[in-house]
Amino acid sequence: MRWLQTKLLATAVAWAFAIAEPVDETTASPVEAATRPPGCSLPDLFAQRLSTQAEVYNPGSAQFDQFSERWSNLETPIVAITVLPATENDVVEIVRVANYCNIPFLAYNGVHGAITTLGRMDSGIAINLRKLSGVAIANNGQTATIAGGTNSKVVIDMLWEAGKQTVTGTCECVSYMGPALGGGHGWLQGHYGLIADQFVSMNIVLADGTLRTINANSDLWWAMKGAGHNFGIVTSATVKIYPRVHTNWAIETLMFTGDKVKALYQAANDYLLQNGTQPVDIINWSYWFNLPQVDPNGPVIEFYIIQEGVSVVDPAYTEPFRALGPVSVTPNNGTYRDVSRWVGISLDGPPCQKTGKANPRFPIYLPAYNATAQQELYALFASATNASSPFANSLFMFEGYSMQGVEAVNSASAAYAFRDDHLLMAPLIQYTPAGPARDQEAAQLGNQLRQILHSGSDRSQMHTYVNYAYGNESPKEWYGHEQWRQARLKALKKKYDRQGRFSFYAPAA
Ligand SMILES: Cc1cc2nc3c(=O)[nH]c(=O)nc-3n(C[C@H](O)[C@H](O)[C@H](O)COP(=O)(O)OP(=O)(O)OC[C@H]3O[C@@H](n4cnc5c(N)ncnc54)[C@H](O)[C@@H]3O)c2cc1C
Repeated sequence: MRWLQTKLLATAVAWAFAIAEPVDETTASPVEAATRPPGCSLPDLFAQRLSTQAEVYNPGSAQFDQFSERWSNLETPIVAITVLPATENDVVEIVRVANYCNIPFLAYNGVHGAITTLGRMDSGIAINLRKLSGVAIANNGQTATIAGGTNSKVVIDMLWEAGKQTVTGTCECVSYMGPALGGGHGWLQGHYGLIADQFVSMNIVLADGTLRTINANSDLWWAMKGAGHNFGIVTSATVKIYPRVHTNWAIETLMFTGDKVKALYQAANDYLLQNGTQPVDIINWSYWFNLPQVDPNGPVIEFYIIQEGVSVVDPAYTEPFRALGPVSVTPNNGTYRDVSRWVGISLDGPPCQKTGKANPRFPIYLPAYNATAQQELYALFASATNASSPFANSLFMFEGYSMQGVEAVNSASAAYAFRDDHLLMAPLIQYTPAGPARDQEAAQLGNQLRQILHSGSDRSQMHTYVNYAYGNESPKEWYGHEQWRQARLKALKKKYDRQGRFSFYAPAA
């Protein structure tokens, strides 16, 4: 540990807590940084308890700044000290120290979490998991054990080398585990289900600082597949992996101007979604963003049709869209590892950079497009993100993955609640932070846009994706509206985290 070289423990601090009675879970809130017990110096405690490879950084150091940086600068957690555990046991000790000292803590992984509830962590410990990285294939190539801080791209590449694949997030810079804990969408979900559907077992440090290995026999298992942020720090997960089936993938990128919006999304319903029967080898995404050199009057629509196992996307899927008169058509082909780059979310892509901007999203799940609502949506998005707006760099995302693998899993088997929805849509209102009034304006716009989509559906209840959530949604909108889901989550929360130590990311209760 770097600072240990200069700082040796002078006092024999009360080590009782490591071996003593369990903390009384019914008292003392973790976020009330009230009285600290005697000997509660975090640097001293970490020096005594952590492995020599762990790293600890205080405010004022370049590393503290580097490891505190987040992808979105809106309602960010306030960090008092950053710790990089090097072993699973380090995570145990950090949680125990935090509990003993009554200091809040939060796992930092790919740092793409942007929900505003994260801002409730005040003067806490950032547990940066980046040193817990690795993928070990086992069980005759049927499973891989992925360390809790491993990045998505590392998982993809290491499995690829071995001729294997599994479901991961599509964006190369998010962690493997962050998306998984909220369900987790990925290119291969049409075959195998969500990322969380691949879990076989996991090692998790619970709120009381105990390390457990859990699997389908644990009552917590259900919750970890969709509401996992609420229950512990996952130090590793063993997951199903599969033989690589196709090496070739193709994409057709069609760019449209806004006057085509209604016809375009009607065609998406008719030729791709097909009443929830989109073929397993087809994925359709689109983005809206300003590109004045193509259309100075409003955002362009970049429409992607991705197909697996071919070198040219089948014209049966592309022709109806070509017929609508796109500004440009760009076919491309390569391997599975190219797909993220084609849609702009590879490691060097703009969404992977930390630019200091605020990046709130306002997600909604829907079964299909309402072409009329899409037109209304476009009009508002265009006027609110024009060149003179502080939100001119915003992006609207429409994600239409294939769903067969997701729908094949019994919905009751996981906390993830929205398996019947075929589309995930979200405006990403990007802006330079400029105080509460700007934040308010962005929130108003994001919510208004989402409301257009919601009103255009025939639903009274809104379904949202917890991993894209803004933070103003209700637990029912994150974790399902069924009463039994809410009751089950609350009961588990009471059993495993009565004090709400894991309550900064979309708290379930
Ligand atoms: C550009 C971009 C692309 C995205 N692409 C996808 C995608 O393809 N599929 C998808 O499903 N989602 C995607 N997301 C959403 C993504 O799932 C969330 O942003 C997620 O929170 C990112 O996790 P992270 O580890 O990168 O971020 P972090 O901010 O580090 O983590 C978010 C939260 O997850 C929890 N957490 C993370 N790791 C652990 C752990 N090991 N144990 C316990 N808790 C942990 C913590 O509560 C933490 O606050 C994307 C987001 C962005 C910004």
